[in-house]
Amino acid sequence: MVRDHSGGVVKAQIIEVGPAKEKWLTWYCPGCRCDHGVPVPPSPRAWVWDGSLSAPTLAPSFIVSSGHFSAGHSGPCWCTYKSEDGSPPPYRCERCHCYVQHGQIQFLADCTHDFAGVTVEMNDDR
Ligand SMILES: [Zn+2]
Ligand SMILES: [Zn+2]
Repeated sequence: MVRDHSGGVVKAQIIEVGPAKEKWLTWYCPGCRCDHGVPVPPSPRAWVWDGSLSAPTLAPSFIVSSGHFSAGHSGPCWCTYKSEDGSPPPYRCERCHCYVQHGQIQFLADCTHDFAGVTVEMNDDR
């Protein structure tokens, strides 16, 4: 467990992405069982972030989608892979949609994972 200078438990991390070393805020998502991240200032296309790593607030909401949940998707996807290929698909079509506020992840009802509609405390423990 890591604490910041004010004693708060650090729940999110700053990483540098790509050759331009863009700053991204990343956090662990228990729904997807992986990290999510968004660019934060001074990166281009940055989310609005209150600067906190112990109780971060981001705006607007975060959404990631794959397969037929992607915007503008048409045609085959991972759901139809097995009927075409005969073997189980390596990925699933998923959507994760949440608000990050005051160190809590508020999952919206349109998530495809078990945490849909649930609010959890952000937690860096795996
Ligand atoms: Zn997620
Ligand atoms: Zn699909």
